[in-house]
Amino acid sequence: VTAPAPMPHAMSPGAILQLIRAGHAVTRSALIETTGLSRSTILQRLGVLLASGLVVEGAGGRSPNGGRPPTMLTFNEDAGVVLAADVGARHARVAVCDLGGRALAEEEQPIVIGDGPDAVLDWLLGTFDRLLVQAGRPRADVLSVGVGLPGPVDFATGRPINPPIMPGWDGYPVADVLAEHYDRPAVVDNDVNIMAVGEHRVHLAGLEHIVFVKVATGIGAGVITNGRVYRGTHGAAGDIGHIRSRADSDVLCTCGNRGCVGALASGSAVARQLAADGLDVSSAVDVVALVSQAEPRAIARVRDAGRLLGEALASVVSVLAPTAIVVGGEMAEAREPLLAGIRETIYQRSLPLATRELAITTSRLGRRAGLVGAATVAIEHALSPGRVDALVAARMSTAP
Ligand SMILES: [Zn+2]
Repeated sequence: VTAPAPMPHAMSPGAILQLIRAGHAVTRSALIETTGLSRSTILQRLGVLLASGLVVEGAGGRSPNGGRPPTMLTFNEDAGVVLAADVGARHARVAVCDLGGRALAEEEQPIVIGDGPDAVLDWLLGTFDRLLVQAGRPRADVLSVGVGLPGPVDFATGRPINPPIMPGWDGYPVADVLAEHYDRPAVVDNDVNIMAVGEHRVHLAGLEHIVFVKVATGIGAGVITNGRVYRGTHGAAGDIGHIRSRADSDVLCTCGNRGCVGALASGSAVARQLAADGLDVSSAVDVVALVSQAEPRAIARVRDAGRLLGEALASVVSVLAPTAIVVGGEMAEAREPLLAGIRETIYQRSLPLATRELAITTSRLGRRAGLVGAATVAIEHALSPGRVDALVAARMSTAP
């Protein structure tokens, strides 16, 4: 997080870039028509965007009246890079991405989040710098940084707040450390929110309301309404793992209550149940492996977990009426038994109007959802009109 971007002029270069990037107006005449600006103003704004490398002129399009084909304007996805990281409790996936979200260099490494922010961020900055070299891009090309963390984050300041599995991280200025290192803005958010954004922008951009449910060691959700992350007070929205799914359960949750869906249906909960059944299982990954080997006890336990999760999600459906529920996280790789259980109880417990168009699927981004989401939030931040105006001004002033 750095100083707020200057307010964009209504039709500043940054605003013009948005029209081009979204495909709303990709020729000079379309820009004049769409914006109502004069030809000379459009040419001036475009001149700045072309000189700064953010827009390139492409092959001619089709002329409406058979004349000379108009020059097509394209957003140059190579005009900079963003740094993206999905930092989990035990591993992190890190990448340098172009402005279209494609990874130019990427790697996954084991980490220990409990080593604390100094050690983990040191490692992260070192990895970013190394991947920049690997991608052949100078540090000056970095436009922004996006990072997902496995706990609640105060989005405005980019600091974790009371993260249960991240000792030493409470209130640590993660975004400030990243922003200072690269002298660029940094966006830090809870990993589930970031996964929700990634899945939404890449595969579900046409839908206004989706809920992304991460089922891994624990259970959490990222909520997107009207295309934006719904955060709630203190960013606490979406913490569905503590919805009570069994009033009669005596299983104690980390929060101190009994019968929370996270304590009964998460990957670690199912692993515990299967271990009690006498199977050699200790994690969500082991559970998924047993399901893929068609172990009947594992399939039954996973389907039961899906049913419990479906009960909690039925409440979510009643409140939010999303168009899609996307299940991600390690347990999503168990696929059919989990989805079957979830669907069974959601459809049973929700009103037909709320589920008429509801799709319940697994994440198509899979294990890369968090990384893609981190790159997406970084790109969206870097290319907001105010940031682009500041960037073109800086590039113009240093141009030879
Ligand atoms: Zn709980």
